[in-house]
Amino acid sequence: MPFVFPPQPVPSVAVHGESARFPVRRIFCVGRNYAAHVREMGKDPDREAPFFFTKPADAVVESGATIAYPPLTNNLHHEAELVAAIGREGFAIAEEDALEHVFGYAAGNDLTRRDLQFEAREAGRPWDWAKAFDRSAVCGPIRRAAEIGHPLSGRIRLDLNGSTRQEADLAEMIWSVPEIVSILSRSVRIMPGDLVYTGTPAGVGPLVPGDVCTVTIDGLDPLTFAIGERTNS
Ligand code: MN
Repeated sequence: MPFVFPPQPVPSVAVHGESARFPVRRIFCVGRNYAAHVREMGKDPDREAPFFFTKPADAVVESGATIAYPPLTNNLHHEAELVAAIGREGFAIAEEDALEHVFGYAAGNDLTRRDLQFEAREAGRPWDWAKAFDRSAVCGPIRRAAEIGHPLSGRIRLDLNGSTRQEADLAEMIWSVPEIVSILSRSVRIMPGDLVYTGTPAGVGPLVPGDVCTVTIDGLDPLTFAIGERTNS
């Protein structure tokens, strides 16, 4: 089928130790999934059903990148997160079957324009402009679940310029990976290539040009990125 102009390349992420890459289809993110972070955002943690927001697939950016400080914000925040990479299609998946749909895991960062998020929240508007901007979905190399298993517990930590800002255990998630995948799959048919950002622990905070962030999760490859100058192009 001809196109009126060449389609953009498929966004993708490295897979640990392999030359073949993980093709990214969609990016889903869970909001408020660690109680201490819910409290620091001024909300009450409870087991209200998890909610999701999305980022464009081409917002994905890999470890080692320098990310220009994005437009429209003066309060760019880091959010260290475990990323579950979906490898098998499914709809209305039972929780006990959910992990069979996960190809692997990566350390991620859900970059957030916090000032725009608070404005949207107060006005009852969508979060898109706070969350779904260019290069907002930082994702480290994916480790295959077939090799490392499923990291349902273990340390998740974010270091900013060498000092620890976020630290928690994956077991503290309000909604676990099998629960998230099962619930997500009741709303949309999940597909190979979908990435699921599973929420951030407490300790989110601002980034400025020159900052270097590292996210480490037990058993996964570390994710490192830097923030560059604000650009006007
Ligand atoms: Mn997040």
